[in-house]
Amino acid sequence: MTAYPTSPLMGQMMDQPLLVSSVIAFAARHYGGNEIVSRRVEGDIHRYTYRDCELRARRMAQALTGLGVQMGDRVATLAWNGYRHMELYYAVSGSGAVLHTINPRLHPEQIAYIINHAEGQYLFFDMTFLPAIEAMARHCKTIKGYVAMCERAHMPLETSIPTLLCYEDLIATSSGQYAWPQFDERSAASLCYTSGTTGNPKGALYSHRSTVLHAYASAMPNALNVSAADTVLPVVPMFHVNAWGLPYSVPLSGAKMVFPGPALDGKSLYELFESEGVTFSAGVPTVWLGLVNHVLQNDLRFSSFRRTVIGGSACPPAMMDTLIDQLGVEVVHAWGMTEMSPLGTACTLMGRHKTLPAAEQRAVLRKQGHAIYGVDMKIVDDDGSELPWDGSTYGHLLVKGPWVVSGYFRGEGGDVLQDGWFPTGDVATIDADGYLQITDRSKDVIKSGGEWIGSIDLENVAMSHPAVLQAACIGVQHPKWSERPLLVVVKRPGADVTREELLAWFDDKVAKWWIPDDVVFTEALPMGGTGKIQKNKLRDIYHEHRLPTA
Ligand code: ADP
Repeated sequence: MTAYPTSPLMGQMMDQPLLVSSVIAFAARHYGGNEIVSRRVEGDIHRYTYRDCELRARRMAQALTGLGVQMGDRVATLAWNGYRHMELYYAVSGSGAVLHTINPRLHPEQIAYIINHAEGQYLFFDMTFLPAIEAMARHCKTIKGYVAMCERAHMPLETSIPTLLCYEDLIATSSGQYAWPQFDERSAASLCYTSGTTGNPKGALYSHRSTVLHAYASAMPNALNVSAADTVLPVVPMFHVNAWGLPYSVPLSGAKMVFPGPALDGKSLYELFESEGVTFSAGVPTVWLGLVNHVLQNDLRFSSFRRTVIGGSACPPAMMDTLIDQLGVEVVHAWGMTEMSPLGTACTLMGRHKTLPAAEQRAVLRKQGHAIYGVDMKIVDDDGSELPWDGSTYGHLLVKGPWVVSGYFRGEGGDVLQDGWFPTGDVATIDADGYLQITDRSKDVIKSGGEWIGSIDLENVAMSHPAVLQAACIGVQHPKWSERPLLVVVKRPGADVTREELLAWFDDKVAKWWIPDDVVFTEALPMGGTGKIQKNKLRDIYHEHRLPTA
């Protein structure tokens, strides 16, 4: 940690640490009657208020202390978006322990690796994951006890899990005579592992200070723009980079919260959006695919939903157009990563954009957006020299800020910073107005004859074809150019398009030498645990693919 010099004249403001517990304490006191509504694993709808949530979080914090959990200890969760998970966000971090959210979609071996690497003490889980825990428990060396997130009546009668506790019993046996402890705001609050598409997953260890600052900044109008007038449904899971900070920024704003539980299909989401009057949501493009298709196929409309944040991978322009033009939902394209808590940029228009023709405004909105205060960014060439912000020069994207990692948990990966900047692994342009556009991940860039071809642009063009549901572009070996683009496409149900028609679709939309050399059609693309296409798997599958040589 850097030690900064102190001035002979220090400010005279209260020295109050920025602690995660202060967020829920604030919501309970100032927006105490506002609701948190959850679709439970059991299928029913549960509703209570911020006041209830804070009290139960304190009771759980007290229970954790009773179990011997100490400051800095890791407490893991394997759970969907729901009120009990939210309570743990505050109970664990608020007590000074570290909340370690685990992505249940990871391979069981990776989950066991992560739990052991983090040296978790307790593991809380939704009943959906009981079989997974039973299969895994003997590999989890440090876990002292498992807590089923349910009532006594739903506890399994027989199980191989050693030391199985009941969540509601822990709450019921705690009095709530517990005050949130105060401590150094730089203490660790939560831990998220990157999905580790290559190599073992690495842990990003957030502090209380970074979490609270990120929550403040992400709620601002240039970013997620959350207020007490909103009803927010985070589709992005609480096990994926803390649901982009929404479990903190929503209570901090006093907005009503709606949790979808495990039901993330288009129909269930739509019903919840309508019944609870959801105004704002957030998720990766693949979930919107399901919801938007459900709405269009059934000729439905949203009655309250007005704005959504889409990020995690590039939002296809065709999806943005449908949401805005057909469904009346404003789209905020955002970019970030696990190592950035995750928000780095969000795309909203500046005042002077408002007089631009609609098509030019849309072109701005398609970018990944403008840095939010707290994040600085730059693009550099292979030698580390900074490149111009002209919207066309692309380079390696580096970031810094109080919610960007300074290294990985337990020193994994060594010293990762370059002159104090974190290398994101993304390739991007930045325009004169400061808007970022991601061209690609550096490992996905297609290197054709020494020049780079950005796969995101090609995928966006393919997905603007009415017969294309999903598209991914990868580089495959080419005898002359070293690599050339291959387009892998999933067609919309009932729609048809040929290879030749699709290649012709690219004419005049991208430079001629960018046009893919070939197209293959497939039933489904390999998806990772966070809803992103696994390009490394695609590259393995099409490793031997012979491109036409003509
Ligand atoms: P992982 O997928 O490794 O778990 P993250 O979920 O943190 O990691 O994903 C971060 C990466 O996702 C970014 O570095 C970037 O490549 C990609 N990404 C995130 N948002 C966007 C976006 N809006 N457009 C394009 N790529 C994005």
